[in-house]
Amino acid sequence: MDRLRFRSLASGSSGNCYFIGNASYGILIDAGVGVRTIRKFLKSMGMDFNRIWGVFVTHDHIDHIKAVGTIGEKFHVPIYSTQKIHEGIERSYRVTQKLSLSKEIFNIGEQIQIGDFTVQSFPVSHDASEAVGYSIQYKGKKFTIATDLGYVSEEVASYLTDSDYIILESNYDEEMLTKGPYPRVLQQRIKADTGHLCNTQTASFLADYFTEKWKYVFLCHLSKENNLPELAFMTIKEHLNSRMIDFEEQMEIIPLNRMEPSAMYVFEH
Ligand SMILES: [Zn+2]
Ligand SMILES: [Zn+2]
Repeated sequence: MDRLRFRSLASGSSGNCYFIGNASYGILIDAGVGVRTIRKFLKSMGMDFNRIWGVFVTHDHIDHIKAVGTIGEKFHVPIYSTQKIHEGIERSYRVTQKLSLSKEIFNIGEQIQIGDFTVQSFPVSHDASEAVGYSIQYKGKKFTIATDLGYVSEEVASYLTDSDYIILESNYDEEMLTKGPYPRVLQQRIKADTGHLCNTQTASFLADYFTEKWKYVFLCHLSKENNLPELAFMTIKEHLNSRMIDFEEQMEIIPLNRMEPSAMYVFEH
Protein backbone atom coordinates (compact mmCIF):
# COMPACT_ATOMS: atom_id res chain seq x y z
CA MET A 1 0.00 0.00 0.00
CA ASP A 2 2.72 2.43 0.90
CA ARG A 3 5.07 1.76 -1.98
CA LEU A 4 6.46 4.72 -3.89
CA ARG A 5 4.42 5.65 -6.94
CA PHE A 6 5.08 7.88 -9.89
CA ARG A 7 2.88 8.95 -12.77
CA SER A 8 3.31 11.65 -15.37
CA LEU A 9 0.27 13.59 -16.54
CA ALA A 10 1.97 15.67 -19.20
CA SER A 11 5.54 16.55 -20.16
CA GLY A 12 6.71 19.21 -22.62
CA SER A 13 6.19 22.77 -23.71
CA SER A 14 2.38 22.31 -23.72
CA GLY A 15 2.38 21.51 -20.02
CA ASN A 16 4.13 19.62 -17.27
CA CYS A 17 2.74 17.84 -14.24
CA TYR A 18 4.03 14.82 -12.31
CA PHE A 19 2.63 12.91 -9.35
CA ILE A 20 4.95 11.35 -6.78
CA GLY A 21 3.39 9.68 -3.78
CA ASN A 22 2.01 6.47 -2.34
CA ALA A 23 -1.46 4.93 -2.42
CA SER A 24 -2.84 7.46 0.08
CA TYR A 25 -1.29 10.83 -0.69
CA GLY A 26 1.45 12.57 -2.59
CA ILE A 27 2.81 15.73 -4.14
CA LEU A 28 2.79 17.24 -7.59
CA ILE A 29 5.86 18.55 -9.33
CA ASP A 30 4.62 21.47 -11.45
CA ALA A 31 1.03 22.18 -12.47
CA GLY A 32 1.35 23.45 -16.03
CA VAL A 33 -1.88 22.04 -17.43
CA GLY A 34 -5.51 22.99 -16.84
CA VAL A 35 -6.90 22.37 -13.39
CA ARG A 36 -9.76 20.22 -14.73
CA THR A 37 -7.28 17.94 -16.51
CA ILE A 38 -5.24 17.60 -13.31
CA ARG A 39 -8.38 16.81 -11.33
CA LYS A 40 -9.42 14.15 -13.83
CA PHE A 41 -5.92 12.68 -13.66
CA LEU A 42 -6.11 12.52 -9.86
CA LYS A 43 -9.60 10.99 -9.98
CA SER A 44 -8.31 8.24 -12.29
CA MET A 45 -5.95 7.30 -9.43
CA GLY A 46 -8.72 7.48 -6.83
CA MET A 47 -7.44 10.80 -5.54
CA ASP A 48 -8.48 14.40 -5.24
CA PHE A 49 -6.70 17.62 -4.29
CA ASN A 50 -7.15 16.85 -0.58
CA ARG A 51 -4.67 13.97 -1.07
CA ILE A 52 -2.13 16.32 -2.63
CA TRP A 53 -0.08 17.77 0.20
CA GLY A 54 1.92 20.20 -1.88
CA VAL A 55 2.77 21.38 -5.39
CA PHE A 56 6.50 21.94 -5.93
CA VAL A 57 7.20 24.36 -8.77
CA THR A 58 10.43 24.09 -10.81
CA HIS A 59 10.23 27.57 -12.41
CA ASP A 60 7.82 30.25 -13.58
CA HIS A 61 7.34 29.38 -17.26
CA ILE A 62 3.66 28.97 -18.05
CA ASP A 63 3.99 25.29 -19.05
CA HIS A 64 4.87 24.63 -15.40
CA ILE A 65 2.58 27.00 -13.49
CA LYS A 66 -0.71 27.33 -15.41
CA ALA A 67 -2.93 25.89 -12.65
CA VAL A 68 -1.01 26.80 -9.48
CA GLY A 69 -3.32 29.74 -8.64
CA THR A 70 -6.50 27.68 -8.65
CA ILE A 71 -4.97 24.60 -7.02
CA GLY A 72 -3.49 26.79 -4.28
CA GLU A 73 -6.32 29.17 -3.54
CA LYS A 74 -9.42 27.18 -4.44
CA PHE A 75 -8.28 23.72 -3.36
CA HIS A 76 -6.00 24.91 -0.54
CA VAL A 77 -2.92 22.99 -1.60
CA PRO A 78 0.35 24.68 -0.51
CA ILE A 79 2.41 25.86 -3.49
CA TYR A 80 6.12 25.55 -2.73
CA SER A 81 8.87 27.39 -4.56
CA THR A 82 11.63 29.93 -4.08
CA GLN A 83 10.94 33.61 -3.44
CA LYS A 84 12.14 34.55 -6.93
CA ILE A 85 9.99 31.92 -8.65
CA HIS A 86 6.97 33.05 -6.62
CA GLU A 87 7.65 36.62 -7.73
CA GLY A 88 7.72 35.37 -11.33
CA ILE A 89 4.38 33.58 -10.83
CA GLU A 90 2.98 36.80 -9.34
CA ARG A 91 4.07 38.74 -12.45
CA SER A 92 2.72 36.17 -14.93
CA TYR A 93 -0.35 37.62 -16.61
CA ARG A 94 -1.44 34.11 -17.59
CA VAL A 95 -1.83 33.05 -13.97
CA THR A 96 -5.01 34.99 -13.23
CA GLN A 97 -5.68 33.61 -9.74
CA LYS A 98 -2.91 35.05 -7.60
CA LEU A 99 -1.43 33.14 -4.69
CA SER A 100 -1.87 34.40 -1.14
CA LEU A 101 -2.57 31.90 1.66
CA SER A 102 -1.26 28.93 -0.32
CA LYS A 103 2.09 30.55 -1.14
CA GLU A 104 4.98 28.79 0.59
CA ILE A 105 8.57 29.95 0.26
CA PHE A 106 10.88 26.96 -0.04
CA ASN A 107 14.51 28.02 -0.31
CA ILE A 108 17.12 26.15 -2.32
CA GLY A 109 18.96 23.65 -0.13
CA GLU A 110 16.26 23.49 2.55
CA GLN A 111 14.49 20.23 3.32
CA ILE A 112 10.84 19.81 4.04
CA GLN A 113 8.96 16.81 5.38
CA ILE A 114 5.64 16.07 3.65
CA GLY A 115 4.28 12.99 5.42
CA ASP A 116 6.87 10.29 4.74
CA PHE A 117 8.42 12.26 1.90
CA THR A 118 11.48 14.48 2.35
CA VAL A 119 11.79 17.06 -0.40
CA GLN A 120 14.86 19.10 -1.25
CA SER A 121 15.52 21.47 -4.12
CA PHE A 122 18.72 22.28 -6.02
CA PRO A 123 19.50 24.97 -8.61
CA VAL A 124 19.42 24.32 -12.35
CA SER A 125 20.46 26.65 -15.18
CA HIS A 126 17.47 27.96 -17.16
CA ASP A 127 16.17 31.27 -18.50
CA ALA A 128 13.42 31.77 -15.89
CA SER A 129 13.29 34.02 -12.79
CA GLU A 130 15.03 31.13 -11.07
CA ALA A 131 14.87 27.38 -11.70
CA VAL A 132 15.21 24.33 -9.49
CA GLY A 133 15.10 20.57 -9.56
CA TYR A 134 13.75 18.39 -6.76
CA SER A 135 15.03 15.35 -4.93
CA ILE A 136 12.45 13.36 -3.00
CA GLN A 137 13.36 10.72 -0.43
CA TYR A 138 10.89 8.10 0.65
CA LYS A 139 11.59 5.06 2.83
CA GLY A 140 15.22 4.75 1.78
CA LYS A 141 14.65 5.45 -1.93
CA LYS A 142 15.37 8.65 -3.81
CA PHE A 143 13.56 10.16 -6.78
CA THR A 144 15.12 13.17 -8.53
CA ILE A 145 13.71 15.39 -11.24
CA ALA A 146 15.71 17.80 -13.39
CA THR A 147 13.74 19.43 -16.20
CA ASP A 148 14.33 22.60 -18.23
CA LEU A 149 18.08 23.01 -17.84
CA GLY A 150 20.80 24.12 -20.24
CA TYR A 151 23.44 21.78 -18.86
CA VAL A 152 23.99 19.28 -16.06
CA SER A 153 26.13 20.98 -13.42
CA GLU A 154 28.20 18.99 -10.94
CA GLU A 155 25.63 19.81 -8.28
CA VAL A 156 22.73 18.54 -10.41
CA ALA A 157 24.79 15.44 -11.24
CA SER A 158 25.35 14.75 -7.55
CA TYR A 159 21.61 14.58 -6.91
CA LEU A 160 20.92 12.48 -9.99
CA THR A 161 23.68 9.94 -9.30
CA ASP A 162 22.49 9.46 -5.74
CA SER A 163 18.97 8.48 -6.90
CA ASP A 164 17.18 5.23 -7.69
CA TYR A 165 14.70 6.87 -10.05
CA ILE A 166 15.30 9.95 -12.14
CA ILE A 167 13.39 12.19 -14.50
CA LEU A 168 15.76 14.02 -16.80
CA GLU A 169 15.07 16.35 -19.69
CA SER A 170 15.87 15.19 -23.23
CA ASN A 171 14.38 18.12 -25.11
CA TYR A 172 15.67 18.11 -28.66
CA ASP A 173 17.69 16.33 -31.30
CA GLU A 174 20.40 18.73 -32.50
CA GLU A 175 19.94 17.95 -36.18
CA MET A 176 16.16 18.21 -36.05
CA LEU A 177 16.41 21.56 -34.28
CA THR A 178 18.99 22.94 -36.72
CA LYS A 179 17.06 21.78 -39.80
CA GLY A 180 13.63 22.45 -38.30
CA PRO A 181 11.18 25.35 -38.51
CA TYR A 182 12.35 27.34 -35.46
CA PRO A 183 13.87 30.77 -36.17
CA ARG A 184 17.57 31.04 -35.43
CA VAL A 185 17.09 33.26 -32.38
CA LEU A 186 14.84 30.68 -30.76
CA GLN A 187 17.26 27.89 -31.72
CA GLN A 188 20.07 29.76 -29.97
CA ARG A 189 17.93 30.25 -26.88
CA ILE A 190 17.13 26.53 -26.70
CA LYS A 191 20.78 25.52 -27.22
CA ALA A 192 22.15 27.99 -24.66
CA ASP A 193 23.46 27.05 -21.23
CA THR A 194 20.23 28.52 -19.89
CA GLY A 195 18.06 26.64 -22.38
CA HIS A 196 17.25 22.94 -22.68
CA LEU A 197 19.14 19.64 -22.74
CA CYS A 198 19.46 17.88 -26.09
CA ASN A 199 19.48 14.10 -26.50
CA THR A 200 23.28 14.01 -26.79
CA GLN A 201 23.81 16.00 -23.58
CA THR A 202 21.44 13.71 -21.72
CA ALA A 203 23.04 10.63 -23.26
CA SER A 204 26.56 11.85 -22.37
CA PHE A 205 25.51 12.56 -18.81
CA LEU A 206 23.96 9.09 -18.42
CA ALA A 207 27.05 7.43 -19.91
CA ASP A 208 29.60 9.54 -17.97
CA TYR A 209 27.86 9.20 -14.63
CA PHE A 210 26.29 5.78 -15.04
CA THR A 211 25.52 4.13 -11.72
CA GLU A 212 24.03 0.79 -10.81
CA LYS A 213 21.69 2.64 -8.48
CA TRP A 214 19.46 3.75 -11.36
CA LYS A 215 16.39 1.58 -11.85
CA TYR A 216 14.24 3.91 -13.96
CA VAL A 217 15.28 6.83 -16.14
CA PHE A 218 12.29 8.83 -17.37
CA LEU A 219 13.00 11.25 -20.20
CA CYS A 220 10.94 14.42 -19.98
CA HIS A 221 10.09 17.63 -21.84
CA LEU A 222 10.61 16.14 -25.32
CA SER A 223 10.00 18.72 -28.03
CA LYS A 224 7.14 18.12 -30.43
CA GLU A 225 8.91 19.75 -33.38
CA ASN A 226 12.52 18.85 -32.65
CA ASN A 227 12.52 15.37 -31.19
CA LEU A 228 11.03 11.88 -31.31
CA PRO A 229 10.76 9.49 -28.37
CA GLU A 230 12.53 6.69 -30.30
CA LEU A 231 15.32 9.04 -31.32
CA ALA A 232 15.92 10.18 -27.72
CA PHE A 233 15.92 6.57 -26.57
CA MET A 234 18.26 5.38 -29.34
CA THR A 235 20.73 8.22 -28.79
CA ILE A 236 21.02 7.23 -25.15
CA LYS A 237 21.17 3.51 -25.88
CA GLU A 238 23.99 4.05 -28.39
CA HIS A 239 25.97 6.20 -25.94
CA LEU A 240 25.64 3.60 -23.19
CA ASN A 241 26.43 0.70 -25.52
CA SER A 242 29.52 2.48 -26.88
CA ARG A 243 30.85 2.51 -23.30
CA MET A 244 30.05 -1.19 -22.91
CA ILE A 245 27.37 -0.37 -20.36
CA ASP A 246 24.86 -3.19 -20.31
CA PHE A 247 22.07 -1.10 -18.84
CA GLU A 248 19.07 -3.15 -19.95
CA GLU A 249 19.61 -5.68 -17.15
CA GLN A 250 19.20 -3.13 -14.40
CA MET A 251 17.17 -0.17 -15.60
CA GLU A 252 14.45 1.00 -17.89
CA ILE A 253 14.63 4.14 -19.98
CA ILE A 254 11.19 5.57 -20.62
CA PRO A 255 10.42 8.68 -22.70
CA LEU A 256 7.36 10.37 -21.18
CA ASN A 257 4.46 11.35 -23.42
CA ARG A 258 3.87 15.00 -24.07
CA MET A 259 0.09 14.98 -23.72
CA GLU A 260 -0.91 11.50 -22.57
CA PRO A 261 -0.66 10.34 -18.95
CA SER A 262 1.96 7.64 -18.41
CA ALA A 263 1.33 4.31 -16.75
CA MET A 264 1.43 4.30 -12.97
CA TYR A 265 4.82 3.10 -11.77
CA VAL A 266 4.76 1.41 -8.38
CA PHE A 267 8.33 0.86 -7.26
CA GLU A 268 9.76 -1.99 -5.23
CA HIS A 269 11.22 -1.16 -1.85
ZN1 LIG B 1 9.14 23.88 -19.77
ZN1 LIG C 1 11.15 26.48 -18.98
